[in-house]
Amino acid sequence: MTTNSNQSNQNANINYNDLQSEIRHLAKDLLESKKVRIVIGYGSGPLNSKPVPVFITDANDVDRLVYNEFCFNNLSIYLTKAEIKAKAPWAIVVKGCDARSVIGLVVENQIKRDDVFTIGVSCNGVKLEGNTLSKCDTCAVKNPSNINVNKVIGNIKTASSTSASTLDKELEQLNKMSAEERFQFWKNEFDRCIRCYGCRQICPHCFCNNCIAEKSAPQWISTTPGSRGNFAWNAIRAFHLVGRCVECMECSRACPMGIRLDLLNHYLAQEVRDSYNFVAGMDLEQKPPLTTYNLKDNQDFIK
Ligand code: SF4
Ligand code: SF4
Ligand code: SF4
Repeated sequence: MTTNSNQSNQNANINYNDLQSEIRHLAKDLLESKKVRIVIGYGSGPLNSKPVPVFITDANDVDRLVYNEFCFNNLSIYLTKAEIKAKAPWAIVVKGCDARSVIGLVVENQIKRDDVFTIGVSCNGVKLEGNTLSKCDTCAVKNPSNINVNKVIGNIKTASSTSASTLDKELEQLNKMSAEERFQFWKNEFDRCIRCYGCRQICPHCFCNNCIAEKSAPQWISTTPGSRGNFAWNAIRAFHLVGRCVECMECSRACPMGIRLDLLNHYLAQEVRDSYNFVAGMDLEQKPPLTTYNLKDNQDFIK
């Protein structure tokens, strides 16, 4: 699958060339007025391949910015990197799902809201290998105007979907299994893990300097791929992301073994929504439930 920033790039609802022009225009304005020092966006990949992240610091370079339906990366991963942090304030191109990550990072005090100018792009779904990503099926933030975005570009007509997403249907099947069957399902998934840590490296919310997976004194998790260590790694990572994961699904995209991290994330997100009425990355004022304590918290899960 290739794409080209100059091709006529339009679907039923979105004119990507218009969006791209608006992004460039805004980026130029922000850099020239010195409101930001760097613009994080998408640029053409080598040999017209899929877009890649670009970091624009000179207003004369804004034509390097592109936008099309293959801009699937969640660029907010870069906001916690030391070399980018040092260049605040930044502007960043975000789809609705990516904007949720920015909110999550602000809520967890990883970045300051005033340091980031968000260019929110209305989005009808992004494609990988020709297919729209499953997370886009029932996305509630296609027009990212309902979340904290500085400037929203485009406005799509979105029919609200009442049908369950593929992930919801798969979860329903999983929930019908006995506890033993579910355990075996996840064990089979995690047994394939090769411990490449791609899932961790791409996740905007896995920002610990010293990951538990690499601690050696004491060693909490075996570092050699193997059934027990793999289970521990994947379970611990999932627990660390509970109530924080924004379901950008970058980890499942990065996983070379096709482990169902998307299903795991969705399962946990649904549990948090049902137990605490909380959806990560939607509200700057609301702390994730597992980082706060409230006497009225639902205790049902402690058994
Ligand atoms: S989840 Fe929503 S905002 Fe994100 S890429 Fe899909 S449709 Fe766009
Ligand atoms: S979907 Fe994966 S990459 Fe995205 S926030 Fe959740 S755990 Fe991190
Ligand atoms: S990306 Fe996949 S294979 Fe690599 S560590 Fe994560 S779960 Fe395991």
